[in-house]
Amino acid sequence: MAIKDIEQGEEIAQIRDSVRRLCQDFPGEYWRKLDRENAYPSEFVKALSDAGYLSVLIPEEYGGSGMPLSAAAAILEEVQRAGANGAACHAQMYIMGALLRHGSAAQKQKYLPGIARGELRLQAFGVTEPTSGTDTTSIKTFARRDGDHYVVNGQKVWTSRAEQSD
Ligand SMILES: Cc1cc2nc3c(=O)[nH]c(=O)nc-3n(C[C@H](O)[C@H](O)[C@H](O)COP(=O)(O)OP(=O)(O)OC[C@H]3O[C@@H](n4cnc5c(N)ncnc54)[C@H](O)[C@@H]3O)c2cc1C
Repeated sequence: MAIKDIEQGEEIAQIRDSVRRLCQDFPGEYWRKLDRENAYPSEFVKALSDAGYLSVLIPEEYGGSGMPLSAAAAILEEVQRAGANGAACHAQMYIMGALLRHGSAAQKQKYLPGIARGELRLQAFGVTEPTSGTDTTSIKTFARRDGDHYVVNGQKVWTSRAEQSD
């Protein structure tokens, strides 16, 4: 094992420990109350955002910590293990990947720092279609360029967390 791998392993172990401690502030009763009220875990999501756990995949130049996917997976694993609900906010970690890969320099500069700070919530997406689920390569929705805009045609099934997104 290389030194770099060992250092990264230790860092991830520390992250796991910190996430476990953060989750202790949100015990089962907190989640059961939200469940009864059909409410969103705003305080929990804010705590995770403030601690920087939802911006680990954002490069440092945009205010994130530029960590690998294994760190993000470890965070969500600890969240779920603690009985908390990672599905309420996991997409805030990775949806920005589309912007990071395909956005212009100006778009990245405009949006990524706000997402990293948790002020801008980019955590809803439409992938699943009536005839395309797990196999995302069979998605049929298509964006056709028409002058200075795009015409998007297709069907989508889910848009979870749309209400809690900007
Ligand atoms: C509560 C909830 C919220 C969701 N929110 C969103 C959202 O906001 N946006 C969004 O885009 N999607 C969302 N999804 C969709 C979800 O992420 C999955 O992509 C989708 O449910 C999978 O498609 P499907 O149900 O049509 O299953 P299918 O793709 O039809 O798969 C059915 C079963 O077959 C298996 N399978 C499929 N293909 C293969 C293969 N090639 N080889 C072996 N096994 C295979 C699958 O593992 C699964 O067990 C949500 C789902 C749930 C349950």
